[in-house]
Amino acid sequence: MSYQALYRVWRPRSFNDVVGQTHITRTLQNAIMQEKFSHAYLFSGPRGTGKTSAAKIFAKTINCEKAPVLEPCNECSACLGIQDGSISDVIEIDAASNNGVEQIRDIRDKVKYAPSAVTYKVYIIDEVHMLSIGAFNALLKTLEEPPKHVIFILATTEPHKIPLTIISRCQRFDFKRISQVSMVERMQTIVGAENVAVTKEALEAVALAAEGGMRDALSLLDQAISYSDDQVELEDVLTVTGSVSQGLLTEITKALYQKDIQQALIKVDDLIQAGKDPGRFVFDLIYYLRDILLYKSAPQLENNLERAIMTDAFKELTEEVDAEWIQRAISELNQCQQEIRWTNSPKVFIEIAVLKIADQVSNTVNNEQNSVIDVLTRKLEHLEKELTSIKQNPPVVQGSGQPQQAAPKRSAARSKNSYKIPYERIRQVLSEASKQDLKNVQAIWANFMDALKKRNAPAHATVQNSKPSAASDKALVLAFKYEIHCSLALDHKQTIELLLAEMLGKELSIIPIPNNDWQELREEFIRKQKSQEDDEESKDSQQDDPLVAEARKLVGDELLEIRE
Ligand SMILES: [Zn+2]
Repeated sequence: MSYQALYRVWRPRSFNDVVGQTHITRTLQNAIMQEKFSHAYLFSGPRGTGKTSAAKIFAKTINCEKAPVLEPCNECSACLGIQDGSISDVIEIDAASNNGVEQIRDIRDKVKYAPSAVTYKVYIIDEVHMLSIGAFNALLKTLEEPPKHVIFILATTEPHKIPLTIISRCQRFDFKRISQVSMVERMQTIVGAENVAVTKEALEAVALAAEGGMRDALSLLDQAISYSDDQVELEDVLTVTGSVSQGLLTEITKALYQKDIQQALIKVDDLIQAGKDPGRFVFDLIYYLRDILLYKSAPQLENNLERAIMTDAFKELTEEVDAEWIQRAISELNQCQQEIRWTNSPKVFIEIAVLKIADQVSNTVNNEQNSVIDVLTRKLEHLEKELTSIKQNPPVVQGSGQPQQAAPKRSAARSKNSYKIPYERIRQVLSEASKQDLKNVQAIWANFMDALKKRNAPAHATVQNSKPSAASDKALVLAFKYEIHCSLALDHKQTIELLLAEMLGKELSIIPIPNNDWQELREEFIRKQKSQEDDEESKDSQQDDPLVAEARKLVGDELLEIRE
């Protein structure tokens, strides 16, 4: 498929093409027909909502050779010249790149001269909020006494940054985010004309991801088209945008509302595993919940839904969940959104938010540390119980003391685990590990756990089901019964390491690993050692079995049951 960017090809050329802003385009058209237009306009609104397109269409319409007209003819030399930028009476200035006072002074000097090719000089200043104070003052002088043949159109995404003295001299139009329905309709027209097959679900997902900006929608659509093979499907769009499908949002919301923590955590894990952006997911979920709330309170506002598409499942969900619950969930997610900005492990905060929402904790506990600790501890205990039930029939028999063979099912299970095991780091620790280092840790472990519980109960809860399994001079490998605790423990890494250093008199960096993976890794390491030593000590066959010796060196006698 050879392609020219859709948003270029389909840039609006007449008022009728400007999607979702009829409240503005009609007013402008009426003013044009009655020749009662203002000399300064301020077009404000989110990016991609048609501000500069509308400005250019306005410039064409008032200068069209057939004026007064409702729409530019797009055929006369005035329309064509303005469209391609060859008529110097219509000037587009990007304030983001030309924010100097000089530029505006230049306008002030030339503004008094009559236009050369068309009736009106039109200055379109995009991102006008970027102008310097000096430039604003120069602009203000011009706006105070505008010549009759000059029109200013100021466009901005951030009107609050514009001096009131400027705003008060403009007729202001606020461009709205384009509604879901309007964007889909417009894209249907476009893909129809371009002869590209795109499913309705795919277009709906594009519109959702574009957040009301048509330009963004068309670039996303472009990407999805080049990404897909033939017909553009929902999945292609979700891949391109990193968004989460409404189906998944519905399932997660349901699980949260029904306090099915296990299910909610599995879903979160799945989507992060699938490469979805965690921040994007939280954002999507907030807006989805907002839509549920909106639809619950005012079903007639169906067109104002931001994230949700009206389906039976959505309607069912809005009937099921309770409004107060949604409000609290949104406030938890908001907090989570703040927190994940500053972390490298956003998943941990999402998991905590999941626990909080499913448990429906009021936000006020944030100010009361003790209750937070109680609550988190309770949740982690609850979580452990939930997880135990999944782990009842583990694919690998544990606790025999013998090195485990990797069962085929393990790899499938591991793909669900988003905690990335630092295999290389652990191998490094193993190569430097000593029995004495491990014994030193084991000797203080029980006291350490007691002290940790007193100092930081949530941190304690995360390592409760872990076991010091190998130690070097610098690091400690902790084998965890449950995978989920590996990432949760890392969240308390500093607390744990600090206390450990206090009690051990030495700093060790903790490295969590799920126990099953630890068993495999240990076995692999021992086998490698064995084969190396076999080469070196082929004569010394009277020695202790090198496999056992190595294992003993690593984990110490008491942890190693030797069979046969
Ligand atoms: Zn024309």
